[in-house]
Amino acid sequence: MLDVDGPLNPFGAMPDHRPDGFQEHFLMPPSWAALEDVRIAASPRRREPTPLPVWLNPDHGAQLLDLPFQLVWATTWEAEANEFIAPLLGLPELPYIPWQTPRPVPQGRGCWKTPEIVAWAAGRPFAWVDDEISQADGDWIVRHHPGPALLRQVDARSGLGPEDFADLSAWAAELD
Ligand SMILES: [Mg+2]
Repeated sequence: MLDVDGPLNPFGAMPDHRPDGFQEHFLMPPSWAALEDVRIAASPRRREPTPLPVWLNPDHGAQLLDLPFQLVWATTWEAEANEFIAPLLGLPELPYIPWQTPRPVPQGRGCWKTPEIVAWAAGRPFAWVDDEISQADGDWIVRHHPGPALLRQVDARSGLGPEDFADLSAWAAELD
């Protein structure tokens, strides 16, 4: 289960501290364009939509495909991850979790994604890579998911790094 903003796009380091290996892109997914329309309507100074800056590491695609996992987008980009992010990383079209509206919230202080992550897993072992994971999510998943789960919280200032890939591989190897 793979988030985009944070693990793949280290937005927490914007605008001045782009980590090594990341390239800057300016994207206009429809969901962003719709938000820009709202912002333009609300501001008399704004005329043109501004593309969304996204930093991506082109090595991440091959590194993700090398992992012994079935990759699933778990991101607010939803289908737009396939259209806008996957091609820049050399990833194929991947399944994605379509989030419910309104967003479900687990009891306690967990991430809003957690119940649907667990529902998607349906008892299967899974790893979840996201910048918003906390201990509350781990506690909730222990109570609601019968199988093994690895929660990998990634710093949104640095994005996925070699240690993350190594730990994901090691965890999958231990499952066998
Ligand atoms: Mg995120």
